[in-house]
Amino acid sequence: MGRSSKDKRDIYYRLAKEEGWRARSAFKLLQLDQEFSLFTGVNRAVDLCAAPGSWSQVLSRKLREREEKAGGAEGVKIVAVDLQAMAPLPGVTQIQGDITKVSTAQEIIRHFEGQPADLVVCDGAPDVTGLHDVDEYIQAQLLLAALNITTHVLKPGGTFVAKIFRGKDVTLLYSQLKIFFSTVTCSKPRSSRNSSIEAFVVCQNYCPPEGYVPNMSNPLLDQTYDVDFNQLEGPNRVIVPFLACGDLSAFDSDRTYSLQVRRLADRDDPSYQPPEEDPETVCPQIHEKMTELGLGGLHHFPHR
Ligand code: SAM
Repeated sequence: MGRSSKDKRDIYYRLAKEEGWRARSAFKLLQLDQEFSLFTGVNRAVDLCAAPGSWSQVLSRKLREREEKAGGAEGVKIVAVDLQAMAPLPGVTQIQGDITKVSTAQEIIRHFEGQPADLVVCDGAPDVTGLHDVDEYIQAQLLLAALNITTHVLKPGGTFVAKIFRGKDVTLLYSQLKIFFSTVTCSKPRSSRNSSIEAFVVCQNYCPPEGYVPNMSNPLLDQTYDVDFNQLEGPNRVIVPFLACGDLSAFDSDRTYSLQVRRLADRDDPSYQPPEEDPETVCPQIHEKMTELGLGGLHHFPHR
């Protein structure tokens, strides 16, 4: 008997069905927790890009079970955010919203009654186009949006876990994350397919630069943000050194010089020198065209 397409699904797909997880991705968070003990001491957690909700299920089961054993799960608060609605889960408050919006951050903070989160996770992924560079770029922007919103809601010392595509510009993302977390690790759970470029950054010990004011200013994400980057102050304003080089007496590339005035500071003989190679031989087509246009051919232009 032939195998149906469902039988061909992988072991984690089948395990998810058996154990009642909404998606096989649940195992990615469970395996990350096995490695990094993500849930230790966590009472307030945020699940960004949560639908259909398997990571929220993991958070709900793990955090609430632990607290129930300790006598009650009232202290546990989980907020799940997604553009799409998802079926309710015990102990999980849903926000149908966009993680690139500051209003979403404010709503999360309202649910925690002004208290910061201990853990923020993000399994966000844009709709894949199949164009690898575009997909990597959009994924990176979503990760930066998740980082921005995290800076609004995470407590100092807290943990941020997010999906990352290990593309060619991934080191830039690591550097950006390292500004905010003392430990940044890239991890690939067994349940994440080897053929997939995806991995997860586990960022521990949130410690923003002193004086950092959380903001959502990523002009690549939303051009409507009214942020004047020149007005940013303190650690929010990153300035890199600018160094002009070359002697001020060297040729100015924006000026037009007479072809006869070709004195180079480092040349012994400042007078005009004819080309060493006959330009007509080097570029016959250009020479022919220039002659045809009455421009005197390539001989007209000194070559050095
Ligand atoms: N972790 C989820 C689970 O275990 O069920 C699966 C997440 S799914 C791979 C990616 C989700 O990211 C989608 O549901 C999508 O709607 C959401 N998403 C993408 N961009 C978003 C955005 N800007 N704001 C909120 N959610 C977003």
